[in-house]
Amino acid sequence: MKILRLKLYPITTPRETGMTNSHVIVRLETNEGLVGWGEMSDLSHLPMHQFDLPKLEGALNGLLVGKDARNLLKIEDDLLRAYPEESYKYSHSGSVRQGVELALLDLVGRAQGVPVYELFGGKLRDQIKVCYPIFSMRSVDQVSLNIDRVQSKYEEGFDLIRVYVGANLEADELFLQQFSERFVGRVSIKSLDFSNALDWRRAWVATERFADIVTFTLVESVVPYHDADGLLEYRRRSRWPVSEHVYHLYHAWQLLSRGCIDILNVSPYLLGGLRASLRLVTLAEAARASVVIGTTQELSLGTAAIAHFGAAARVLDYPSDSTGPRLYTQEVVKTPVRYESGFLLVPEGPGLGVEVDEALLDELTREAQWTFGTSINAAIDRLPVK
Ligand code: MG
Ligand code: MG
Repeated sequence: MKILRLKLYPITTPRETGMTNSHVIVRLETNEGLVGWGEMSDLSHLPMHQFDLPKLEGALNGLLVGKDARNLLKIEDDLLRAYPEESYKYSHSGSVRQGVELALLDLVGRAQGVPVYELFGGKLRDQIKVCYPIFSMRSVDQVSLNIDRVQSKYEEGFDLIRVYVGANLEADELFLQQFSERFVGRVSIKSLDFSNALDWRRAWVATERFADIVTFTLVESVVPYHDADGLLEYRRRSRWPVSEHVYHLYHAWQLLSRGCIDILNVSPYLLGGLRASLRLVTLAEAARASVVIGTTQELSLGTAAIAHFGAAARVLDYPSDSTGPRLYTQEVVKTPVRYESGFLLVPEGPGLGVEVDEALLDELTREAQWTFGTSINAAIDRLPVK
């Protein structure tokens, strides 16, 4: 089962919130004509530079062509040396490794006629609980739209949200007050996510203020990037479990061994795929820590992958974040992944269990040809607040 060629398809897809996000769909083909699909998800984050896709496609073909697609370990080892860990939440190298690994897993699953979770030895669950995101509010006039969004997602079965706070505390407080008046008893808050925007003391003061208004289960990203000392200060005071994105295995080990966090936010887009993510779950198990599965907002290919990972994760004791397919208004698969009563269902078909609509993909790639990486509204929206 030798890899014959890899092809990259840039696309942009709109969100219901009005933003447009870039993704790269990965197509891998073997010399027997078998095909697998992967996804480099939601690339419209900071830093603002984008892939040079012809160069990336050339480099990946140089690394992969002629290799045995079944030797996932060897290919991952080669990729890790060529695209090393970057210690950043929106790691480009993580996206590259995820895109290739997903396509390989899809390919090998399809070749064997089994779902991807079978490649991990089976599954522990058929569905994973997820929460819907309420994105960062920069002004009070964004509050009412978000309250309406909670209502419409509740009507779709999502009874759990996470709220990004810290950009404008007045707007946050207003949202939480209105949320509490309208939704208590029907919708719960999984987490307040500070997105690394505040130092630990400001985040702690805000947490206490918000706790007077609403209840929430956990807090996330309560200090600036890489501030392990601040994380430790916050966690010593906190009665809520503290979660942080982990950038790689050693980063997670550092945070756990210093007592900085309770929960590992394990995100395949950042770690470089599902098997790298499963290794982090094993570390959490060893440390008696908890796991949430994070997201960057994947399309259905990336979200199906997360469902297979969640199915096989030995530790998964908090709800996860993967609702991308309900956020985007455009897809590349024939039938999106399914949600029921706020749960993401694990697909049962071969490979990742979703079918790419190739005609649609060609059309989206043609449309994105002149705009990919140039529509920077999403990245501008993510610039730090002064
Ligand atoms: Mg986060
Ligand atoms: Mg994202």
